Amino acid sequence: MSKIIILGAGISGLGAGYSFRKNGCDPILLEKNPTYGGLCDNFEIKGFYFDHFVHFSFTNDGEVKRLFQLSAPNIIRHTPNPYNIYNKKWIKHPAQNNLYPLSSYEKQQIITDFRKRPIVSDINQIQNYEEWLRAQYGDYFAEHFPMIYTQKYWMCQARELETKWIGNRLYQPSIEEVIRGCETADTPVTYYAQEMCYPQKGGYKAFLRVLTEGLDIKYNSEIVEISPIGRSVRTQKGDVYYYDRLISSLPLPEILSMLKDLPDDVISAGEQLRYTSGYLISIALKTKNIPPYLWWYVYDEDILASRVYSPSLKSPYNVPEGCSSLQLEVYVKQDAYTYEELFNKTVTRLVELNIIEEMDILFVDIRFEKYANVVFDHNIYNSRKVIRDYLFSIGIETIGRFGEWDYFWSDQSLKSGMDIA
Ligand SMILES: Cc1cc2nc3c(=O)[nH]c(=O)nc-3n(C[C@H](O)[C@H](O)[C@H](O)COP(=O)(O)OP(=O)(O)OC[C@H]3O[C@@H](n4cnc5c(N)ncnc54)[C@H](O)[C@@H]3O)c2cc1C
Repeated sequence: MSKIIILGAGISGLGAGYSFRKNGCDPILLEKNPTYGGLCDNFEIKGFYFDHFVHFSFTNDGEVKRLFQLSAPNIIRHTPNPYNIYNKKWIKHPAQNNLYPLSSYEKQQIITDFRKRPIVSDINQIQNYEEWLRAQYGDYFAEHFPMIYTQKYWMCQARELETKWIGNRLYQPSIEEVIRGCETADTPVTYYAQEMCYPQKGGYKAFLRVLTEGLDIKYNSEIVEISPIGRSVRTQKGDVYYYDRLISSLPLPEILSMLKDLPDDVISAGEQLRYTSGYLISIALKTKNIPPYLWWYVYDEDILASRVYSPSLKSPYNVPEGCSSLQLEVYVKQDAYTYEELFNKTVTRLVELNIIEEMDILFVDIRFEKYANVVFDHNIYNSRKVIRDYLFSIGIETIGRFGEWDYFWSDQSLKSGMDIA
């Protein structure tokens, strides 16, 4: 039987393993961590459970729904009610058609500029995110909301991004909807997903359980070298595994760093890949005294976090009785902040805004994820194609969010893995 090695036991690697097993093969998965899940993993501290970033499922894919349901039969189904913080005010999401809490001056500016938007015959022809935002929302809203948020979330200027990733992620209201949202707080929900699913127990990771059944996963096996000629991979501990087929869910820059004698165009494409890293700031609270929103976006620049959400609202089983929790996402280009800087510009700010009480805080945990989002700058499509084509030519097939180098939700990462078998 041919030897199949899968690098990484995140949801895409598990999906590949699951499909291979269904097809009668027995792959080996090599995972650097002591457990499976990757970005879908979670961690526990003193009875508080936290995911790695927000994580809900809103998949429409029947097969993914079936696997998630089999893995975690008790699912909590939330109706999304996200909010935003803008100039210290709470604004229903999406802000563009929920501007009621703003001053009359700002509402007027937004409506005026919305009316003056450049006329574009086909919005899909616009190649630059800043132009897309100006054409979609007018200058005032574009400059004060999404262009600011872009700097916090994507760590770059909107003009540095292309536009194909947008899809249905940003709501595009009519002028009537914008005006109505200025006049009343009573507006319909226009968030792109109708239902957000989350396992009652075990965190988001519980959705992955059936994928792992019967799989041969070698934990604590960090790959440091790949030899396409010898058809082998070597772990940091010195173990060598030989393969007939090699599937990798590892981030493309990591794979390139494990290979020798790369062609110049591949090296240059690798240098062009951009991505964000993220800090996870997890707050455990001894009361239930937190905002009632599952998650909220933060536009204000004096608060480093771009998004906050509540694990205890996702599931009450994520915290001990009577307690609550929040998790904040801070994006960076690299591990750049000290614990104190992060604490002062996130947790302290929430206390100053009376969003949480200092005396309620039991502990704050801060950790770092090197790979969060791939950045859709103008080079992304060419760079990732050059790299993936080269890897394929030397016998390395790549899957998942960082192997395909795409803005994949967990269901798309899972499918990316399942489809390779
Ligand atoms: C901020 C944020 C919010 C998100 N929110 C949602 C959401 O609400 N809903 C949703 O559906 N999706 C969400 N996602 C997307 C989802 O997390 C990903 O699509 C999915 O988890 C990616 O899975 P993967 O297997 O492709 O990659 P990963 O999860 O990164 O798996 C790769 C695996 O490879 C391992 N690995 C890395 N290097 C090595 C090495 N050298 N040797 C061996 N193993 C190695 C890692 O430890 C990891 O286990 C979110 C992502 C982010 C960043």
